[in-house]
Amino acid sequence: MELRLHDTLTREKRTFVPLDPNNVRMYVCGPTVYDFAHIGNARPVIVFDVLFRLLRHLYGEAHVKYVRNITDVDDKINDRAARDFPGLPLNEAIRKVTEQTGKQFHADVDALGALRPSVEPRATEHIAEMREIIERLVAGGFAYVAEDHVLFSPQAMNAANAGLPRYGALSNRSLDEMVAGARVDVAPYKKGNTDFVLWKPSKPGEPSWPSPAGITAEGRPGWHVECSAMAWKHLGEHFDIHGGGIDLVFPHHENELAQTCCAFHQQRMANYWMHNGFLQVESEKMSKSLGNFITIRELLADWPGEVLRLNMLKTHYRSPIDWTMKSLEESAKTLDDWYRVAGDIEPGRPAASVVEPLLDDLNTSLAIAALHSLRGSDVPALAGSLRLLGFLSESAAQWEGRKQQASGIDTKEVERLISERTAARSRKDFKESDRIRDLLAAMGVAIKDSKDGTTWEVAR
Ligand code: AMP
Ligand code: ZN
Repeated sequence: MELRLHDTLTREKRTFVPLDPNNVRMYVCGPTVYDFAHIGNARPVIVFDVLFRLLRHLYGEAHVKYVRNITDVDDKINDRAARDFPGLPLNEAIRKVTEQTGKQFHADVDALGALRPSVEPRATEHIAEMREIIERLVAGGFAYVAEDHVLFSPQAMNAANAGLPRYGALSNRSLDEMVAGARVDVAPYKKGNTDFVLWKPSKPGEPSWPSPAGITAEGRPGWHVECSAMAWKHLGEHFDIHGGGIDLVFPHHENELAQTCCAFHQQRMANYWMHNGFLQVESEKMSKSLGNFITIRELLADWPGEVLRLNMLKTHYRSPIDWTMKSLEESAKTLDDWYRVAGDIEPGRPAASVVEPLLDDLNTSLAIAALHSLRGSDVPALAGSLRLLGFLSESAAQWEGRKQQASGIDTKEVERLISERTAARSRKDFKESDRIRDLLAAMGVAIKDSKDGTTWEVAR
């Protein structure tokens, strides 16, 4: 069966045909590194990791290139640096913020079982490519210089009529309506009210680089051109898949597409544009002001990363997801069970019943339903399928041990109490054995008696 993917641009599911099956290329917009990543940020990381794994399964590990950038020039980073390191020169403070946040991001996504992308480019290392794209856009008449800014003109793009896509096609908007609806307080140097920044002057003390297009003052890039430059450098002028969260469709991806297609005279930037739906928490939009803002790191203190991963994949990537405690508890129970049954089993080939739904635009909810059926019918296939999806990264004993450690339970003390209880039971002192059972329960330990003896686990 072939892979079919939903393309935001054409608004349909199409058979995936790579430009070059020996070099399948995917770009996903990564984080802006100024703060801990929240659980919403984990969604594109996990979703596109599953796609990366599936593409590697289909085309071979050596034939898939996945690029996820790190945005390390941004006003939010500058603000955070000034706030957290007031004593340091701004550029040094910025380096501290991006280094710390970048490290934390890696620790978080590693714990979620996400493979590292093939390349993780940083914006600040691609300024030359950004300047080159900007020069091309100015030379082509798509961009202009005004008061030390360089601005892109969507109207010039749509007037060019030169085998280019239409500005607004990705986000399904009409440029005329955007022009009519634009706010009135548009910056005075803009010729058109939908024109957007490719390059702007830096304020004193801010990071700055030599400017393109004959501007003498130093400056810095706009956000959208960063991704055009990094995608071009690592994947070329035209590649297979571009992904990110649904909030990025407009303006970020619309503008990336416009820049790249106009700079390189391409009809397309990516053949498939894929967007994950948004995540909300207990039926509410996640926001700092509502107090329901959860970082990946906070969740990892209470749950193994694979529990977060499973919880994310239970919902199809294009649907909104409601992140709830109840669902997390269910995901944890499911994984405990899968580890017990399949954690130490030699993995077989991933089952067709799991791969087929994945081929249908990453239908992970159906794939997970198939995993539940495999549990009773084919455990090696369950183990192989779980691995394909990025689960079972540890042994059953490691999983159980880590859970006990995370719960803060003293394993030795539990074992001691259990043998005391066994002794009490064999001398028929049921009062004492019940007392010990209650004591264990109060410690958060659930015990189970069977003919082979007493086992225990952390009660959730
Ligand atoms: P940012 O650092 O805000 O640019 O976000 C990084 C990635 O996380 C982007 O692909 C966003 O679309 C995605 N993202 C941010 N918030 C959410 C959310 N609540 N649900 C799903 N994806 C999100
Ligand atoms: Zn981007």
